[in-house]
Amino acid sequence: MSLQAEEPLVRRLIEIRRRLHANPELSGEEFETTAAIREWLGQEGIRIADYPLKTGLVAEIGGLREGPIVALRADIDALPIQEETGLPFASRRPGAMHACGHDFHTAALIGAAVLLKRREAELPGTVRLLFQPAEEKAKGAAQVIESGALSGVAAVFGLHNKPDLPVGTIGIRSGPIMAAADGFAVEVDGKGTHAAVPEAGLDPLITAAHMLTALQSIVSRNVSSLDSAVVSVTRLSAGTSWNVIPEKAIFDGTIRTFDEGVRAEVRRRFEQVVDGVAAAFGTTARTRWTGGPPPVVNDPRWAHSAAIAAKRAGLAVVEPKPSPAGEDFALYLKEAPGAFVFLGTNGPREWHHPAFDVDESALPHAAAYLASVALQALAELSGEKSAGSEPDEAHAEAVTRA
Ligand SMILES: [Zn+2]
Ligand SMILES: [Zn+2]
Repeated sequence: MSLQAEEPLVRRLIEIRRRLHANPELSGEEFETTAAIREWLGQEGIRIADYPLKTGLVAEIGGLREGPIVALRADIDALPIQEETGLPFASRRPGAMHACGHDFHTAALIGAAVLLKRREAELPGTVRLLFQPAEEKAKGAAQVIESGALSGVAAVFGLHNKPDLPVGTIGIRSGPIMAAADGFAVEVDGKGTHAAVPEAGLDPLITAAHMLTALQSIVSRNVSSLDSAVVSVTRLSAGTSWNVIPEKAIFDGTIRTFDEGVRAEVRRRFEQVVDGVAAAFGTTARTRWTGGPPPVVNDPRWAHSAAIAAKRAGLAVVEPKPSPAGEDFALYLKEAPGAFVFLGTNGPREWHHPAFDVDESALPHAAAYLASVALQALAELSGEKSAGSEPDEAHAEAVTRA
């Protein structure tokens, strides 16, 4: 038997997702979203936990008996993108859109909360629900951790919708599943001069051009063929006129890596190349790092448990390729072990596209998976069932009834 929400609950979750979709709020500004989540949880009698967050909120289910704490996370923020889906419930806010499907994640976690609330008396511990703000700016997870909401958490789980996986499948892998997303900004200081008299100056454009080329050798010459990395310069600006060699050139971009060792080495070589090329041209340069999240690295034990839970929720488990996108869920995994998974939503477009959408028929799967993984983790942690045991009929039946 699959673990699915019944029809009225599915309809309710779709309604919630559409309401969030129509009213997106950008990172750090999720006030109405937070109020709506609070109201929806309140209607289900779910208690809101008291953690100091400006936006986002934490709720809890269970804890009626002494036991472990398992956390489930959904991110709630939208992106500064003008929506072009043409959906009847498209964004009503110009320049803001749920183009990463965080509306879907939020509705899924509310669905899981409803399913778990029904079993509350039987929970051998506590499920803590993290409705996290500001994921798109990679700030919200740090705020949630700062609020103390990860304290005592034995395992943490989350999911991201995945447009290239079909509905009914879930992508689970042990080890890295999403990349470290480091940002850089380099400022090259030269000496301005007349374009016709370059020898009187120090050209920051020529320097920057050599830097851009040399930086592309890091991946090909310093990263093992068995590892991977991306160095992308995405913006370059310098100069104001055709006959002036300017004082400065500025460029920025991002580095993506899946391993902390590779990450450190790429960053070290990056600075070495920038400083070395600047010196070769007599200019000076500064590299400023905008710290993105580290790689999302799944714990093997909990990735295994996630797969058991997913099968119990009626999902087909596949091993996905890691995504080079970043996710601040990585920070939770530094606090407690856990697993982050990709849930198939069969979307027409990739994340962050103005026509991004999810197949809503994946919503009950997402809710069921989250409820199932919390039950599985609590059962394992409280010693009632160990990972890898035969499917527990009582558990499956209990969850089915939920
Ligand atoms: Zn995103
Ligand atoms: Zn996202």
